[in-house]
Amino acid sequence: MFIGGRPVTTAEPRPVELPFDGSEVGTVYQATKEQVDAAIAAAAAAALLMGEMTLDERSTILRKSYQRLMDDRDEMALAVSSETGKPLKEARLEVDRAALTLLFSAEEAHRLHGEVVPMDASPAGKGRWAMTVREPLGVIAAITPFNFPLNLAMHKIGPALAGGNAVVHKPASTTPISAIRMAHLFTECGLPAGALNVVTGPGGAIGDQLVFDKRVAMVTFTGSPEVGLRIRNLAGLKRVTLELGSNSAVIVEEDANLDEAVARSVAGSFAHSGQVCISVQRIFVHRKIRNEFLERCVEGARKLAIGHPHSPQTDISSLITAGEAERVAGWIQEAVDAGARVATGGHRLHRATIEPTILTEVPATASLSCREAFGPVVGVNVYDSLDEAIARVNDSEYGLQAGIYTRDIQKAFYAARRVHVGGFLINEVPQYRVDQMPYGGVKLSGAGREGPKYAIEEMTEPKLVCWKV
Ligand code: NAP
Repeated sequence: MFIGGRPVTTAEPRPVELPFDGSEVGTVYQATKEQVDAAIAAAAAAALLMGEMTLDERSTILRKSYQRLMDDRDEMALAVSSETGKPLKEARLEVDRAALTLLFSAEEAHRLHGEVVPMDASPAGKGRWAMTVREPLGVIAAITPFNFPLNLAMHKIGPALAGGNAVVHKPASTTPISAIRMAHLFTECGLPAGALNVVTGPGGAIGDQLVFDKRVAMVTFTGSPEVGLRIRNLAGLKRVTLELGSNSAVIVEEDANLDEAVARSVAGSFAHSGQVCISVQRIFVHRKIRNEFLERCVEGARKLAIGHPHSPQTDISSLITAGEAERVAGWIQEAVDAGARVATGGHRLHRATIEPTILTEVPATASLSCREAFGPVVGVNVYDSLDEAIARVNDSEYGLQAGIYTRDIQKAFYAARRVHVGGFLINEVPQYRVDQMPYGGVKLSGAGREGPKYAIEEMTEPKLVCWKV
């Protein structure tokens, strides 16, 4: 762990395993109650320092951290690949994106400002002049998931530090390595001791303490809806942002550019073995092009290279645990029992690896339709009218992102207005994200937006200063 600017261990080490083969790649320690308390205390003390820093001082630390992360790119990518089991080429992309997230946060620090309030627009405001100043919240608890352990953590830590806060970060138990490395990296780039603390241990054991503690002003969480709802219910009046799951859908109209729709649907369904919150899980394709689209997607899925995550050729490695692979295999079986057909894949290969799998006509009631698969499985379903496709996309408890492929701008915007999601992509799969865009969901997919410009607003308070002239 990393508390008050120092590495900390306990008497309870546990191995961190490479999910692909179970080999040991690191050690994680379970924080005691006292250590979590010490991390919050260190953050509370450092928050005072952070709040006093100029915007330029915060921005400079973030800019240096961006540069250091780029300098350490290969080493960090290996760490991310080892803890998550994601193919090395995807881990490199994650490092590049995480560095950019820090750069965008550094830029937002320079832009952080309040506004002048037109007080005399009310009769009672005559003679009053007012402005808002954006003040830090203080201590922010950042709880992050396993699938993008580096970039999703930077989406919280970057804007929090830019806004003048201090952070206690709890990474997923399976993926603590990059988090600890980043704490060292930030310190080497001039971040004051205590401004970023990392505590590890099961969320079920230390999560409540972080959420309940009065010194913590905000909880920013990315993970499953179950845990997100629990945090929301426990947090009381604390500020809470939740980035949760989805079962993202894309519509492929009969006039779509098929080359692009096929290539991006395959990539969007199987990257990181489908363990992406916006992974393509439900495809609705117009009846007229269904057969050609399906055949070409099957061909694309069969070309993906399955193997060790550190091999440069590998496209598909493994899920995070054998238990997760067992769950996904069970959901495939459940869908098949309910009438879905396997177009390709469908098998668990070994330990935590599942073949890239395409099913057709998955019943709307099957788990693979209505819950979040978080595995390399996509359902291709046929429709006859755009209204039908939109209704089926909206028939979900989730609403993170969705997309449509069409060359008809009227249809594209017709769908954009009617699909209920946080982000809608035209001629792109919903799995697309760049890190400066506003990103977040509706319904069970969460509350609040990330992207440094948007997160920094959630992580600062607009204080009104009013002057009677
Ligand atoms: P998870 O099981 O909800 O865990 C996320 C984090 O919460 C981990 O650090 C976990 O710690 C911690 N946690 C567990 N129980 C807790 C509790 N009672 N109180 C506080 N924290 C607790 O999710 P995951 O399996 O790591 O990640 C997959 C999920 O994240 C999917 O649903 C995915 O869609 C979602 N996700 C959403 C986004 C987005 O931006 N919308 C991005 C990526 C992922 P432990 O690891 O120690 O259990």
